[in-house]
Amino acid sequence: MRIKINLKTCIKTGQCYYMHPDLVQRAPDDSPVVIDRDLTEEERPDADSLIGSCPVGAIRLSRNGRTP
Ligand code: SF4
Repeated sequence: MRIKINLKTCIKTGQCYYMHPDLVQRAPDDSPVVIDRDLTEEERPDADSLIGSCPVGAIRLSRNGRTP
């Protein structure tokens, strides 16, 4: 399970990296950068919170390399 962010949809509001800096970091141009690792099932609530933080729905979860 990995986090994917559609940078074409992202409007750089910053909620994701302010709320979940353990999952997403801020690039110098204010774009979000996903920390490149698989998430554990225990991190699923944080991932759901992260997804909910985005006002434009740019964040999704991917399982086995596929986006549901
Ligand atoms: S919360 Fe959404 S719109 Fe805001 S920086 Fe993160 S991905 Fe982009």
